[in-house]
Amino acid sequence: VPELPEVETVRRGLEQTTCQQQITHVEVLLDRTIAAPADPKDFIDGLKGQTIVEWQRRGKYLLAVLKSSPDAAKSSSSITPGSTPSSTSYLGVHLRMTGQLLWVHPESALPKHTRVRIFFEGNQELRFVDQRTFGQMWWVRAGQEPATVISGLNNLGPEPFSPEFSLSYLAKKLKHSQRLIKSALLDQGLVAGIGNIYADESLFRSGIHPTTRCCDLGAEQIQRLHPAIVEVLASSIDIGGTSFSTFVSVTGVNGNYGGESWVYNRKGQPCRRCGQTIARLKLAGRSTHFCPNCQPSAR
Ligand SMILES: [Zn+2]
Repeated sequence: VPELPEVETVRRGLEQTTCQQQITHVEVLLDRTIAAPADPKDFIDGLKGQTIVEWQRRGKYLLAVLKSSPDAAKSSSSITPGSTPSSTSYLGVHLRMTGQLLWVHPESALPKHTRVRIFFEGNQELRFVDQRTFGQMWWVRAGQEPATVISGLNNLGPEPFSPEFSLSYLAKKLKHSQRLIKSALLDQGLVAGIGNIYADESLFRSGIHPTTRCCDLGAEQIQRLHPAIVEVLASSIDIGGTSFSTFVSVTGVNGNYGGESWVYNRKGQPCRRCGQTIARLKLAGRSTHFCPNCQPSAR
């Protein structure tokens, strides 16, 4: 499942490939990939003739800023919040489990699980391939705020690299919570974009057992956890996301974090720090990996 570093890697790839290019036409091969508007024909008509001027990311949501082409030619600078001109619309994308955005030649072999094809001038195509079909796309028409159409945007906590995600914010959020820290980290409302891999890696780095209740965490543990979250995510973005069989960048390159994980997917292997055998347990249906020695249980 793509997490924040993978989605950020895709965003950067989209910026390098699709920006300042006009959409000539769109084909929807699976109607339910289009979450909004209700009629996929409105999605197709809405995107036609638009130019992508910028790709933004909120949590695991990708948001292309679109301008109708005369406007795009006039100003290609980024949009200031609050002063959004009425000609600006958006293309929203969530990759979910298996979604891939690929920048290809329209003549290249069409994979079986292709759901949406967005064609650009200059004989280029942005292709959405999604085996499990949980991926979603939205077109947000001019004058609408993205969060009114893409409801998941309303439930996101601060971005992990933003000033809002401070040590004091994290400490305050965890202080009175009875939840297990692993579950809290997976909550997109606490901090946007963390999934299973980075939750496990952050807890290993900070020496915290995944079943520790948030309210039982000591101040020094939270002081270790906060930078661990930021560093784990940042280092993975630096190397282009993790390696999953289903994750590829826009230009088809696999990430390589998998070879570098401390605990994730390493059940039964020796801890890279102490040699103890990495353990795995199920928490809320998700596999959780940890070192019983480096991450001692609070109880
Ligand atoms: Zn260890």
